[in-house]
Amino acid sequence: ALDRGQLSVHYQPVYGLDTGEILGFEALVRWTHPVRGEVAPEVFIPLAEETGAIGRVGRWVFDQACRQLAAWNALLPGRRLGMSVNLSAAQLRRPATATALLGIVDAAGIDPDDIWFEITERGHVPDDAMPLITTLRTAGVHFALDDFGMSHSNLSHLRQLPVERLKIDKSFVAGLTEQDVDRGIVNAIRVIADSLGLDVIAEGVETGAQRDVLLGLGCNQGQGYLLSPPLPGAEATALLLSGDPAAWAGGRAFRSRA
Ligand code: C2E
Ligand code: CA
Ligand code: CA
Repeated sequence: ALDRGQLSVHYQPVYGLDTGEILGFEALVRWTHPVRGEVAPEVFIPLAEETGAIGRVGRWVFDQACRQLAAWNALLPGRRLGMSVNLSAAQLRRPATATALLGIVDAAGIDPDDIWFEITERGHVPDDAMPLITTLRTAGVHFALDDFGMSHSNLSHLRQLPVERLKIDKSFVAGLTEQDVDRGIVNAIRVIADSLGLDVIAEGVETGAQRDVLLGLGCNQGQGYLLSPPLPGAEATALLLSGDPAAWAGGRAFRSRA
């Protein structure tokens, strides 16, 4: 698919839920198959991990994302945007990954401080990945724990890993307005993050009501269909240029509040 030009990268904006400002983007890979159409990453990423193709695919996605960030930096001088990219456990297992990824950051001419790697607990962070993660962190890039709360070992990971951000899984956000237990879990995640000095981003924010509950719980950053779906690069650029937070005040993103 990569060799045939069937892969692309979409970018989902991360918003300040209180300010309406775009703080950065998450890069998400897309595969458009000529016959099958859109194939979900949840289907092909595990296959790429199994076959070992994830190394090449992951480097390609990261290269695209770094070039996109460099283009936005050139277009909007003075504006500081973060770029988040998902890393799978299989990538973390290869020692060569660090050199490859840092080479891409360097070639794009961007600040490693603007890069966030999202690692999930689902695939388990392998023990032998620690030196690689440490090398990357020392070079200035950051780590976020993705899908936080979905696995049993998350607190021990928080102790071991140089993670600076938690992403609240969308399954908890989905239940926020109906399920007391989900509100309790999100609140607990926010308290854990606060006491450890970590950032929190809620994913899968789909309704104004969810956004209001998140703000009430002190969770000020989010992404989700309420705000914007993942967009092709050109559309994400147009969104940036459309002048948020002016677009915000106009109610584009938060019409439900108006
Ligand atoms: P993830 O990292 O948890 O990404 C969030 C997923 O939620 C994305 O699905 C995104 O399109 C979707 N999403 C965004 N807003 C909403 C919303 O409001 N409601 C709902 N229900 N969903 C929302 P996507 O793009 O299909 O990706 C699925 C998973 O595939 C990602 O989950 C990530 O684990 C993996 N993935 C995607 N791109 C890459 C990549 O380049 N490398 C690696 N290793 N994994 C990737
Ligand atoms: Ca993610
Ligand atoms: Ca997730």
